[in-house]
Amino acid sequence: MPSETPETLFVPHARGRLLHVRTCPQLLGLDAPVPATAAQIETLGTCAWCAKELSEEGRRYFDSVEQAVRTLDPSGDAVRPTERALGGVDYDLIWVPPSYSYIAVGDKEHAVAWIGRGCVMHEDGRLIDFG
Ligand SMILES: [Zn+2]
Repeated sequence: MPSETPETLFVPHARGRLLHVRTCPQLLGLDAPVPATAAQIETLGTCAWCAKELSEEGRRYFDSVEQAVRTLDPSGDAVRPTERALGGVDYDLIWVPPSYSYIAVGDKEHAVAWIGRGCVMHEDGRLIDFG
């Protein structure tokens, strides 16, 4: 079973009417939002906060992973471990979403890895913890 990524879509409960990402304020306080099914992803709309979070417009882009990591953690302690955890992954773009809750690397279409506090999650579900 693939791990949840920051872009995994959820519904608040099985009959939820809108799709959300896990960091959505509307899911705060819910212990167990339900990962959306393929049919729900196809038919339901996305909540306004989450649509903004996932859209390219709200992103802040960076020139390097180091610059992005230092923006979220000015000490710079996480720069080398983050670069090591990314390994040889291929990407053209580095950005944070409007919520600043993670750093993503990828290409124009999709992220291939997500950088969180003390960890990097790869597209294939590998989670590398260095915190
Ligand atoms: Zn939402």
